[in-house]
Amino acid sequence: MRKKIVAGNWKMNCTLPEGKKLASEVIHMVEDEVNNEAEVVLIPPFIHLTGIQSLIGSSNKIFLGAQNCHQNQSGAFTGEVSASMLVSCGVTHVILGHSERREYFGETDELLSEKVNFTLENGLTPIFCCGEKLEVREARDHESLVGTQVEKALFDLSEDQIRKVVIAYEPVWAIGTGVTASAEQAQEMHAFIRNQIAAKYSQDTADSIPILYGGSVKPDNAKEIFSQQDVDGGLIGGASLKSRDFTNIVKAFD
Ligand code: PEP
Repeated sequence: MRKKIVAGNWKMNCTLPEGKKLASEVIHMVEDEVNNEAEVVLIPPFIHLTGIQSLIGSSNKIFLGAQNCHQNQSGAFTGEVSASMLVSCGVTHVILGHSERREYFGETDELLSEKVNFTLENGLTPIFCCGEKLEVREARDHESLVGTQVEKALFDLSEDQIRKVVIAYEPVWAIGTGVTASAEQAQEMHAFIRNQIAAKYSQDTADSIPILYGGSVKPDNAKEIFSQQDVDGGLIGGASLKSRDFTNIVKAFD
């Protein structure tokens, strides 16, 4: 059985008091209401990590994630945060290659390959994001584009290493737009990614890697998307900022 994961990417939202309120509500609702084994990852801005960690404590259901991390351990990189710093704050997961980082901060597949390697070396679980823009899908090049993103960023890893990665398929045209990929579109791309991993490594390894879907997941569409064979959960943006909506998305696995 593959791990199920629901991760909430808060992006650049919430002051510290707002973030603490949100996290407390989610923690209580998840503890009181959720009847499934899915792991929940809260991913606030860097500056709130320690504050949110003190609320999560040592839960084996709710984990702490970061939205990015630098590819060097320390040094003269003003404004950046390293993997070991994240680990020292109780972080277990880190998003790498979100489409907003690719688009606004020029992150390339080559850089992401370095970041994936480095976070794994530091014992973090990378949530590696891939996904195509609308024009790529309209040109029917989405498999080729996503295949290249996965290959360039992940296929230098050993088989043992790639088994520690979580992948998030996030079609850019579905992020923050209210337009969700259909359950069939999501399943098709997740199966494509899994087959690509099976061809490079092994079926056993491909079958062990959680592949999350991201892009306008809401309480009313989560169940259908999560019920697809190769969809192992979600990376949630907008709806992760509302405790009730986010908890109901987690409950879609009940
Ligand atoms: C995201 O930013 O990863 C995301 C999926 O956002 P939203 O759920 O708002 O589409």
